Amino acid sequence: MVHVGIGYDVHALVENRKLILGGVEIPHTKGLDGHSDADALMHAICDALLGALGEPDIGHFFPNTDPRWKNAPSRLFLEEASRVIALRGGRIVNVDATVLAQEPRLYPHIHQMKRHISEALGIPVERIGIKATTNEGLGFVGRCEGIAAMAVASVDVVDQ
Ligand code: MG
Repeated sequence: MVHVGIGYDVHALVENRKLILGGVEIPHTKGLDGHSDADALMHAICDALLGALGEPDIGHFFPNTDPRWKNAPSRLFLEEASRVIALRGGRIVNVDATVLAQEPRLYPHIHQMKRHISEALGIPVERIGIKATTNEGLGFVGRCEGIAAMAVASVDVVDQ
């Protein structure tokens, strides 16, 4: 039976931080603030995958109070989500995500993001959708105060 999950994440844009989305370091004047590398896209995908199996969210597995995850690459979190799914007898069918960022322009980096996510999850790149949109200047995303990401995932599980 195929299960679906949803994930959402947001991090604030601040100075003196790298901007990392989908494991790609993107040249920009600001980066995302957070305990780990603050890769909101990977975090949203993690929560979608975990949510599909009714598992707790990413913060449960990787608390932001744990110094081990300080500046950690979020690829580790995706690899762990993939491991949890395999332990539960699941198989990731596909992942689809949208990044909401007023700037910078993300389109040139989408393919590389897909490659990183496909490698971390061990599924073909064709099963990963990533889109980017601005927020038409509206709200905190439009004011460039933060970047948000939303994701869905489907996981095939043999139910008992
Ligand atoms: Mg996060």
